[in-house]
Amino acid sequence: MEITNARLILPDSIERGSLSIRNGRIQKISKSARAATKANVECINLRGGFLAPGFVDIHIHGALGRDTMEADPDAFRQITEFHLKGGTTSLTLTTLSASQKDILKTLKAIKPFHNKSMGGSRIVGVHVEGPFINKVRAGAQNPDYCRNPTAKEWGPILKYGKLITQMTLAPELPRANTLIKALRKNGSIASGGHTDAVEKDLFPALKSGLNQSTHTFNAMSGLVKKGPYRSAGMLEFALAHDAITCELIADGQHVPPVLMRMLFNAKPRDKVVIITDATKGAGLRTGTKFEMYGVAARVTKTTAEVVDGRGLAGSTLTMIRAVQTAVEQANVPLVDAVYMSTLNPARQIGRAKEFGSLKKGKRADLVWFDNKFKVKGVWLEGKMLHRA
Ligand SMILES: [Zn+2]
Repeated sequence: MEITNARLILPDSIERGSLSIRNGRIQKISKSARAATKANVECINLRGGFLAPGFVDIHIHGALGRDTMEADPDAFRQITEFHLKGGTTSLTLTTLSASQKDILKTLKAIKPFHNKSMGGSRIVGVHVEGPFINKVRAGAQNPDYCRNPTAKEWGPILKYGKLITQMTLAPELPRANTLIKALRKNGSIASGGHTDAVEKDLFPALKSGLNQSTHTFNAMSGLVKKGPYRSAGMLEFALAHDAITCELIADGQHVPPVLMRMLFNAKPRDKVVIITDATKGAGLRTGTKFEMYGVAARVTKTTAEVVDGRGLAGSTLTMIRAVQTAVEQANVPLVDAVYMSTLNPARQIGRAKEFGSLKKGKRADLVWFDNKFKVKGVWLEGKMLHRA
């Protein structure tokens, strides 16, 4: 199959050209708008539309009233079908702070669909967000289920091996460093989040392998002053250290445009990962109430809030809206916003050889959108799964 007359979003530039697909992989990228079409090759003309690698979302809980914690294949199907339409071709389903029993039940339910598509985005792993996080930074997580890490609890989680692509934890909790080391040994991202950590906690965590910060700016410590002296919190520590890649919920609400700019100025382009952190409120009408493992929330015009008004409750984003927001509200060049939504997350989960950029030999996971960021088509391994 050939896709012609596209504006190809390559890692470093946007070029007019065409792309051919064979056996689900990108076979050839050509700088000529029209590929040398053979008579029997199916051809689709994008008429100057953008063609990007499919988005990779490493922090997403749900959509359409369905949540990962339901541990229900039908929920996984609805969630991944919804997010595919927003251009996401790979995602890691994300759990919440919950009982050990419910977390393991969810992992067991996801396992059969690891690296598969149920008609929507490919499920490439699980991001275990909590329960080893700090109650005082619970955000929309249920504080009753936040607790200290013990090998007795995280051992059975890591038994799932490669399925566990990421865990969000608070580095200041006792024995967090043992967990960080175990995560990195498993090939998982160790991400600091829902944390009140200060420098004395963070330097050992960095040494143990902490390599990401979860929804940077949200639910984390900032600069603290003790007597006349200052110490960095998780936020400044993440901005200062290149070993730490920063997740960003790019809806313009969780992190206002000025702070988004601050992040993009502080971090090199390959150290920011755009995420949705979409909850089951995504795709629901404004005003709809929903519940996240015991926490009541409501969909607003622009995002989701905890009902008691104490904070935001994940987002209602899709990846295309996140890319659009980064471009339009934080003046990020489109090529960079796409890079932060594709190659960076693919690299973080160790899958960049397989997907995450328009490159010969990679899986033909593609998203086609127009100047107004309207998704026109999405391909997974060369198969068009969505056409607007
Ligand atoms: Zn969170």
